Amino acid sequence: MRNRVFFKLLLILLAVIAAVTVIVDVTVTRSLAISLRDQTHATVAAVRRTLLWASGLAALGAAALALIAAQSVARRLQRIVNFADRIAAGDLSARISDGSSDEIGQVATALDATARNLEQSFLEVRTGQQQLEILLNSMQEAVLAVSADGKVQWANRVMVRLLASGVRLGAPVVETVRDPDFLRAITEAIETGGVRTTSATSILPGRYYNVTAAPMRGAGAVAVLYDVTEIERVEKTRRDFVANVSHELRTPLTSIQGYAETLLESTNQGPERDFLEIIRKNAVRMASLTEDLLTLARVESGEVAFRFRPVAPAAMLEEAAKSFREMARSQRVDLVVETPAERSVNADTDAVHQVLANLIDNALKYASGGGKIVLGARDSGASVEFYVRDFGPGIASEHLPRLFERFYRVDKARSRESGGTGLGLAIAKHIVRAHGGVIRAESALGHGSTFLFTLPVAPVAGEQS
Ligand code: ADP
Repeated sequence: MRNRVFFKLLLILLAVIAAVTVIVDVTVTRSLAISLRDQTHATVAAVRRTLLWASGLAALGAAALALIAAQSVARRLQRIVNFADRIAAGDLSARISDGSSDEIGQVATALDATARNLEQSFLEVRTGQQQLEILLNSMQEAVLAVSADGKVQWANRVMVRLLASGVRLGAPVVETVRDPDFLRAITEAIETGGVRTTSATSILPGRYYNVTAAPMRGAGAVAVLYDVTEIERVEKTRRDFVANVSHELRTPLTSIQGYAETLLESTNQGPERDFLEIIRKNAVRMASLTEDLLTLARVESGEVAFRFRPVAPAAMLEEAAKSFREMARSQRVDLVVETPAERSVNADTDAVHQVLANLIDNALKYASGGGKIVLGARDSGASVEFYVRDFGPGIASEHLPRLFERFYRVDKARSRESGGTGLGLAIAKHIVRAHGGVIRAESALGHGSTFLFTLPVAPVAGEQS
């Protein structure tokens, strides 16, 4: 039943009024009876006294009843206040447990239900968080969460073990990890809201890490460090091995080629001359393969010291075109240079010449039927984009993502026949990367191919920091 408290108070009031009425009625009746019998002055005084007593008694009764009712309500409200205090202090197991069905009882029941739901949800969240923590702690990778203002929020066990100085929660991340590449990735992930990947080499001496920093929505970023020291070591061993073998093969191959050529000069037509010609051709092929392997191993290792300087794109394109003009003419291919880009690029001219040479050489090898090759460079934001376009048979789209892998050829037989090693584009990719650029290919079967690469614009004098 609704409005119970109101009815209780109303009942109390009615009880008081009834009590007063009864007492006054009894008293007045008695007084009147007395006064009828004996209408004296003393009687009036007695009536007055009796009335006074009766009123006092009624008032006392009413006060006692009101006190009991008020105490009961106050006690119940105090239980609600205590409940609210416990909830505020984080004790979600607090309950009021008021059994009555008046308004206060209804409020108490509703609050109990809310607390129960809250406790259940909190339990689920905590269980999820604990599972996540177990998962992150059992990972092989180190994980570090950073708040939006660059403070360390959380680190998994691997991360804590990794840092000799330990991880201080709440301290600036720069005091915990001092690697500039790692810090840049974190800052960029927070500022741009995008995932950043980088390599960090100065977190621990002699160890290499791949770092992925991903933003957490509105709450900083989380960085995952993957230890690639062993992979790097194996890669280095592989590169060194390839470089050493290539180097060792150079001298015997030159010798075979030299002797084959000498013998060819003094051998007349016949099977012997054919055999010698095969020996010479294969020696030349192996020599160019070892040469390319050596170049690739050097560029890949990052040990090549590039000499970067500002160069005009037009100059590099003209130089490359000059080297191939004669070859193009002999194949009846038009070599056209177009250079709208005016800004200089920061480049090692010899290395970029090798990239352009590999691309033009490919265009002549695989697309000379197109009759024309266009070289050019155009502005593209903070870079200049160079391109080599041919009008040959083109490359099917499924090959495009793999073209720059070492030894990847679309048509193996054709490549081998034309003296290709399958390393030209891989070398070009590493040289462009070392310049801070990217290389890609656009092509469609029957519509020719365009190979494009970017080089960063050289800072204008006065801009250099
Ligand atoms: P290769 O020494 O075989 O030329 P590259 O790495 O230079 O090796 O090229 C890889 C493969 O890409 C080539 O074997 C060829 O199939 C394909 N390719 C490269 N350039 C072109 C082009 N301009 N037109 C068609 N195919 C090409």
